[in-house]
Amino acid sequence: MYDIEKVREDFPILARQIYNRPLVYLDNGATTQKPRCVVEAMVDEYYNVNANVHRGVHFLSQQATDLHEASRETVRAFLNAKSTSEILFTRGTTESINLLAFSFGETFVHEGDEILVSTMEHHSNIVPWQMLCERKGAKLRVIPMDDAGVLDMEAYKSLINEKTRIVCCAHVSNVLGTVNPVKEIVKIAHDHDVPVLIDGAQSTPHFKVDMQDIDCDFFAFSGHKIYAPTGIGVLYGKEQWLEKLPPYQGGGEMIKNVSFEKTTYNELPYKFEAGTPDYVASHALAQALDYVSALGMDNIYAHEQELTRYAMEQMGQIEGMRFFGTADHKDAVISFLVGNIHHLDMGTLLDRLGIAVRTGHHCAEPLMRRLGIEGTVRASFALYNTKAEVDALVAGIQRVAKMF
Ligand code: PMP
Repeated sequence: MYDIEKVREDFPILARQIYNRPLVYLDNGATTQKPRCVVEAMVDEYYNVNANVHRGVHFLSQQATDLHEASRETVRAFLNAKSTSEILFTRGTTESINLLAFSFGETFVHEGDEILVSTMEHHSNIVPWQMLCERKGAKLRVIPMDDAGVLDMEAYKSLINEKTRIVCCAHVSNVLGTVNPVKEIVKIAHDHDVPVLIDGAQSTPHFKVDMQDIDCDFFAFSGHKIYAPTGIGVLYGKEQWLEKLPPYQGGGEMIKNVSFEKTTYNELPYKFEAGTPDYVASHALAQALDYVSALGMDNIYAHEQELTRYAMEQMGQIEGMRFFGTADHKDAVISFLVGNIHHLDMGTLLDRLGIAVRTGHHCAEPLMRRLGIEGTVRASFALYNTKAEVDALVAGIQRVAKMF
């Protein structure tokens, strides 16, 4: 384990007061706070290194390129991918999935084909596939789940067939916290020669992910949810797949030769990285990954699991408490409603106590429909949260409940 008080000092924002109360930040599923080392890496690069990458012969350009490419290696190691050719820098999970839906869809999806997603997907793992289906005349099919928020694997097995072109599934649900059995999902898809995209936006910050172990074909995550800046993310893709896919955007960096008659494309990963990349953010992402690796992903996982268990236990004692997402294998996300109190009222009143939670449909409207509700209140934990903060949340909910 690590020293939580010492760790909290790495995050200056945690010392803030909100309405004269200590900030209790429990909106980590939306975005995490940044440690000093990440912000300082960005400041240092802008002050001391800044130059455009890849094309420059001069010293600064080469130094910036080295930092950018070293960051790609840090991401590779973090994911245990085989090669840096498999690591594409994007703006985040959303862009990663749009890139894949476009490129994969252009080549491999045709009229009458089917794409499988799950009931608990974030809109960013639904809408790009839906748009593709509309372009190509393909069909989106949905893996159902039970009331606890566990995917129905038997239904999944019966949905996958010779028309299925790709399976797209969240590693961890941003609403329910369910940790999906991704290895099993991949194995079943591969038995049908179907590739799998895992949306890792909510798994990468919380526990060790291993591309070679999961054996998925594609994996997306966002930097800002794992203590890195906004505007940087990753699409991992197996080299044999990425080689077959056409570029997503055209422009500088992604080409080998250009003439008005014909353009040839750059090698991996650059074929998918048109234009000036966010090389400052990629460097800061590497700092964030180094930071969590130094704390130890297993330690982070143990700390957050303990917090989640404690929170579920304490919150479960509140009268009228309803949890959404009670799978055995659950991560550090708790969605709930209390009695008839509207989620927005609960969130607004908790805010007045300095407690930041998220309310609403959490970009998962189809899941809300499945649950028969409009929205939930969501508390989501990070490596710096404490049991005292859980106590503050519980006391806050009780106070709001009394008001109604
Ligand atoms: N997928 C999941 C499961 C998420 O939780 C989120 C962010 N809430 C996204 C995708 C989209 O991530 P981003 O907005 O960083 O692209």
